[in-house]
Amino acid sequence: MSGSGIFAEIIDGDVFNYYADGKWNKSSSGKFVPIINPTTRKIHFKVQACTQEEVNKAIESAKIAQKLWAKTPLWKRAELLHKAAAILKEHKAPIAECLVKEIAKPAKDAVTEVVRSGDLVSYCAEEGVRILGEGKFLVSDSFPGNERTKYCLTSKIPLGVVLAIPPFNYPVNLAVSKIGPAIIAGNSIVLKPPTQGAVAALHMVHCFHLAGFPKGLISCVTGKGSEIGDFLTMHPGVNCISFTGGDTGIAISKKSAMVPLQMELGGKDACIVLEDADLDLVAANIVKGGFSYSGQRCTAVKVALVMESVAETLVKKIKDKVAKLTVGPPEDDCDITPVITESSANFIEGLVMDAKKKGATFCQEYRREGNLIWPLLLDNVRSDMRISWEEPFGPVLPVIRINSVEEGIRHCNASNFGLQGCVFTKDINKAMLISDAMETGTVQINSAPARGPDHFPFQGLKDSGIGSQGITNSINMMTKIKTTVINLPTPSYTMG
Ligand code: NAP
Repeated sequence: MSGSGIFAEIIDGDVFNYYADGKWNKSSSGKFVPIINPTTRKIHFKVQACTQEEVNKAIESAKIAQKLWAKTPLWKRAELLHKAAAILKEHKAPIAECLVKEIAKPAKDAVTEVVRSGDLVSYCAEEGVRILGEGKFLVSDSFPGNERTKYCLTSKIPLGVVLAIPPFNYPVNLAVSKIGPAIIAGNSIVLKPPTQGAVAALHMVHCFHLAGFPKGLISCVTGKGSEIGDFLTMHPGVNCISFTGGDTGIAISKKSAMVPLQMELGGKDACIVLEDADLDLVAANIVKGGFSYSGQRCTAVKVALVMESVAETLVKKIKDKVAKLTVGPPEDDCDITPVITESSANFIEGLVMDAKKKGATFCQEYRREGNLIWPLLLDNVRSDMRISWEEPFGPVLPVIRINSVEEGIRHCNASNFGLQGCVFTKDINKAMLISDAMETGTVQINSAPARGPDHFPFQGLKDSGIGSQGITNSINMMTKIKTTVINLPTPSYTMG
């Protein structure tokens, strides 16, 4: 059960505490933020609404703790991360239960998210000891005009306090994807979890607490992003921001100070289907890629661009598979569960109605009950429909029929987003040329877009982000290069 057993100390009455200075605290605000269960649409949990003063204190103690942590041997940092990963995996059930209640994640996927997070933390520890234990050695006479009188040594040093802000859809995994790299690299971390998903994140943080990290090194302040977000992201004590979410990230990158930014933002991942593609494989990938977690994934297939000659057959195959998706509560492990909020459901409905008005073909009848939207495939979508360009973040997938590959690439590249894309064809030469032409951070050949495995580089072009993630890239991003140069006297004679 959430908030019980080893997690008993993280809750006070019916409000979950925030974590700072190595302990669980009640906010002096006397206010709480309600967390609405997307299925029942009733308040399910409450978290503390932290004050600016409490944020200041958390950042101040993160600053102090980081100085000592940077001097802690790498192997010891790794050891504690391995311990936290083991505790996290051991207690996957109550954390997964929070994900089910807070974000309506299907029960099995919720467990997978926690296990994957434990694995990610362990991988950070292993990768960190390797890449942070290496530096470079350069000599000066490789640059014109220089004698061999300067020896340059480089090493990677931490940035300081890292602010981590993950989104609702993977509140545990996308929090540890920031915590793991930051901590192994010798930084401290202040986590601001998404409101929906905050309780799962607090449980996860408790696993780090139990592992025995120094006090102040990791803290978790709760509150609405709209209330404490600007204060956090513009705080002078923050040395790096790692953010995952929607357009909020674009606003943050305009407001933040001169600190390194890691931005993982929205996507409109296109799936280009050629005439020679294996249509059964395409249909399976489009349904999994488009409808897993009800389409609420940054890497969900968000538009299918299908060659006209195979569109009829493919749409029929997708339709048959969509009919088999189960729809209902996350507790029953249904494929399609309620979307995160009522306003998200209204937004999705707006896109559907716009497509209807403009003449899209509905492969199923549109159906909605509360936040639950039945999976919907829209055929014959045209580029004057909003759904062609906007990210529904729901179980609705548009199909645009194309007459040439170039048309598909043009549509993909006209998007403001550039996260991932995919192409289905048996011709690897064509696939490579299409991959080169697609303006996205990653192109998957013969598979739906996906973030994992978590050590692969992961990046968005254009409005989809800044920098590259994946464990190795995140560790590097959360460090700076420090150089020490040994200067020798200019030789007046030759040795030996
Ligand atoms: P969101 O509304 O942008 O929120 C993301 C986070 O920002 C939440 O923790 C939110 O807190 C916080 N926040 C809100 N206002 C803020 C402010 N002024 N300053 C600082 N933080 C603030 O995104 P979402 O709805 O949670 O997630 C869906 C979006 O994330 C989609 O666009 C999806 O594509 C994207 N996403 C991208 C990736 C990727 O890797 N590229 C991965 C997953 C999701 P509150 O919850 O308290 O408002």
